[in-house]
Amino acid sequence: MEQYIVSARKYRPSTFKSVVGQQSLTHTLKSAIDSGHLAHAYLFCGPRGVGKTSCARIFAKTINCLHPTADGEACNECESCVAFNEQRSLNIVELDAASNNSVDDIRNLIEQVRIPPQIGRYRVFIIDEVHMLSTAAFNAFLKTLEEPPSHAIFILATTEKHKILPTILSRCQIYDFSRITIPDIVDQLKYIAGNEGITAEPAALNVIAQKADGAMRDALSIFDQVAASSGGNITYASTIENLNVLDHDYYFRLMEAFRTCNVTEALLIYKEIRDKGFDSLFFINGLAKHIRDMMVAATPQTHKLLDMGEEVAARFISESVKFHPKFYYLAMDLCNTCDLNYRTASNKQFLVELTLIKICRLLERPSTPPSGGGNNSGGSGGNPQPADKPQTTTHASSQRPNTNATTTATKPTTAAAMQNSTTAEPKVAYTPAPQHHGTAKPITMPGNMPRIMINNTQAGQQTATRAKQPDTATSVQRRLSPFTPEQMLAAWNSYIKEHPSEKVIVNTMRTALPARVDDTLYEIYVENVGQVEFIKARQTEIVEYLRRQLGNDMVAIDVKVKESGPAPKFWSPREIVEDMVQRNPEVRNMIQELGLSLA
Ligand SMILES: [Zn+2]
Repeated sequence: MEQYIVSARKYRPSTFKSVVGQQSLTHTLKSAIDSGHLAHAYLFCGPRGVGKTSCARIFAKTINCLHPTADGEACNECESCVAFNEQRSLNIVELDAASNNSVDDIRNLIEQVRIPPQIGRYRVFIIDEVHMLSTAAFNAFLKTLEEPPSHAIFILATTEKHKILPTILSRCQIYDFSRITIPDIVDQLKYIAGNEGITAEPAALNVIAQKADGAMRDALSIFDQVAASSGGNITYASTIENLNVLDHDYYFRLMEAFRTCNVTEALLIYKEIRDKGFDSLFFINGLAKHIRDMMVAATPQTHKLLDMGEEVAARFISESVKFHPKFYYLAMDLCNTCDLNYRTASNKQFLVELTLIKICRLLERPSTPPSGGGNNSGGSGGNPQPADKPQTTTHASSQRPNTNATTTATKPTTAAAMQNSTTAEPKVAYTPAPQHHGTAKPITMPGNMPRIMINNTQAGQQTATRAKQPDTATSVQRRLSPFTPEQMLAAWNSYIKEHPSEKVIVNTMRTALPARVDDTLYEIYVENVGQVEFIKARQTEIVEYLRRQLGNDMVAIDVKVKESGPAPKFWSPREIVEDMVQRNPEVRNMIQELGLSLA
């Protein structure tokens, strides 16, 4: 029987061309080799599993190749290349600093640096996870890095660039590896499946790619796992079962319930999801991401923001035309409000249900003029009801300045939608909404359209429309580490420290320190309404940061304006005298009698 080799090893790239998802970076490396402009030290940064070590190895092989091809790749045939491919080349030395981080380990390496290459021109020293080196090891290494022999090239790889000392950074050429996109991963998995004689539904590969969260290596091992348990026939159903992810079909069904204003159906779908054991907050964040994806699918210009395989994207695109763009804004905003209030809600299921009801009502055509209902809870922050009346027939472009400081304008990207929604939550109902709802042609889905899912790992993070790298450590398991107010303060200050260039937010945060309300809820008191807005615009990001730092997903902050008298005022001498005169007429007499005057 043929020996089984895991895909991550079998399909490890051997040329720059075969590296998945890092085209511009490999192109730059190739041209550097081509032009002979090689640095002595490179720093490869980026998340795990995106090809840093593979690129380092290919780089080492290519610069030593005796007959490089016309397009700058290693020939894979010469003596040097063969030695590399058989892993017996002496021109490559790898040190995994995660497990070998002592001074002695580095000294061993430094001794080897002196030995010149036997074949080829360079010896390449790869130090993986270089941020793990002890300080003493770092210092021992620094000297060699400053004055390396001409045949030595160092490639340092790290997942945590911020932990690298500036003295090292300044001596390296830095390459930032990005997360691999879902379409790129799906394509690679398709290729491998084809090669291995495995059948795989595109939607299933999309699930795997999402679960891998931008790391090819993870995608390949998940692929192996699913392939093994499904006997070489990877279906969508077996994959979501295997990986415990929420079927995207639930969200598509919910969208249909929203479109038809079917509250009953929406609540029943939510119950089904709960019965499957999925967490409500996870669900609402997944819904937010789904609506966001529908929104970007609705406009051709934003299709590139859809991070999903082609087949899956096609379904989003065809479904997305069923809704008015404004529906998306308002629905996302309601999901966001739900997310923000989730922590403090005493009845979380009620909060989620109420949110679903509100979304269902967005497209409702009222038979009677609304009397101010449907707007009285959920904390979307005091919608001034009377203001809606004159707005009812005007178009959305007539925005009023946002007067209410306590509205939950939480994110820059949803701010515009929020501003509308202060007037518009009930408005959509009776805005004529010209072409869009009325004439949207009913879309019939092709029968065998792939079904889609949302990945547990990512969904929790996606409500934040600010572009953010999902944190790979997060999963459905909520973090609940206890923490002290001092630790809270330290996390708060460390956010400030990490964002030195963002003066406005940082200065606001400096003067408003978190005060404990209960174990996880903290209040922030700021000077004025403007500062409330600053913090709220960044609230999601800040809270996420605090949660990460403190290892607790229940952390919440509540921003309030300090209640105090009028701000202290500096008075001129004349004002002081005038004030005295007003309080005490005797003073006036005295001034007149003495013939005093103020300069
Ligand atoms: Zn060669």
